Amino acid sequence: MKITAIRFAKLKVPLITPFKTAMRTVQNITDLVVIIETDKGVLGYGSAPSTPIITGDTHGSICYAINNVIGPHIIGMDIEDLNAICHKIQHAIVANSSAKAALEIAIYDLWAKRFDAPLYKMLGGGKPILSTDVTISVDHIEKMLADANLAISQGFEILKIKIGTDIENDIERVYSIHQDVAKRATLRLDVNQGWTAKQTVYAMQKLENIGVELELIEQPVKSNDINGLRYISERITTPVMADESAFSPLQVIDLIRSGAADIINIKLMKCAGLSQAIKIADLAELHDIPCMIGCMLEGSIGVAAAAHLAAAKASSISLIDLDGPALGQYDPVVGGVDFNLSNITLGQGAGLGIERINDLQELTWPF
Ligand code: MG
Repeated sequence: MKITAIRFAKLKVPLITPFKTAMRTVQNITDLVVIIETDKGVLGYGSAPSTPIITGDTHGSICYAINNVIGPHIIGMDIEDLNAICHKIQHAIVANSSAKAALEIAIYDLWAKRFDAPLYKMLGGGKPILSTDVTISVDHIEKMLADANLAISQGFEILKIKIGTDIENDIERVYSIHQDVAKRATLRLDVNQGWTAKQTVYAMQKLENIGVELELIEQPVKSNDINGLRYISERITTPVMADESAFSPLQVIDLIRSGAADIINIKLMKCAGLSQAIKIADLAELHDIPCMIGCMLEGSIGVAAAAHLAAAKASSISLIDLDGPALGQYDPVVGGVDFNLSNITLGQGAGLGIERINDLQELTWPF
């Protein structure tokens, strides 16, 4: 089965409520869909959101990188040559992690379809059921308490609290939410680079000293502040997870070796695709460092690929943060992975199992 063409489409789904972090506010899930055509008429699907302030990638830059730079290297290749295709994708251009991730998702979809098996089985098998946490957007305390209680009433057992706007308000937010819901839910904090290392130690020691128990604190400091992450890890008991500091497998090796992080957050859009995510999961497991699988604010094509990876790498990926599709008002993708609040169920169709995608707007590059 040979790759014959690559085309693009757009998929937009309105959010149930706006998504707010220390870095941005978003109203819709907007994915670029990458469709790989083959000489057998089988299609492979991948996708990527535009996350300029996280990855540096926009839908325009992703299309350019795929259409003008990476695509010509893989057109004509046989999908059975998975490793060779991924090597071409990874080495055709530096950076551009979202373009590589979207392409690799479509390639792995086709590769599993070639062997008529669900992707997670091709990646080693596992349980086709996952349970995700849900994001509580940063807001005023009453709104965050209401959102947290709503999520618990919907069956979520783990809440990921977004903070990082200003330190004293953040401490108050975390304390109030912990007071209200800690007996009913596990709490994770995501500061999204909003604090300095010293602020983090101050805030976390204060919270720890008044009995606030958190499963982890994610990326409190700027992405390039590895010394800051280590400074924090040495001074607080709450496990520290690297997110924006952990893009590539090489960065993860540095984080582990320097003792800067206790947990690694893997996202396909950061690490440049499934082939690299597998490397991170494996090298973290070798060091007894657990991984989270996360996603951007993105829909169910890319997140399905992350779910298949998590199912197959369960011994390494023990924390699941794949709530992107469940934040949308509906799922336009028919077949494959079912995202129902905290419950993620992988289908048994070949590849990602996608049967149809509603509301696809075909794009012609350049647009
Ligand atoms: Mg994060």
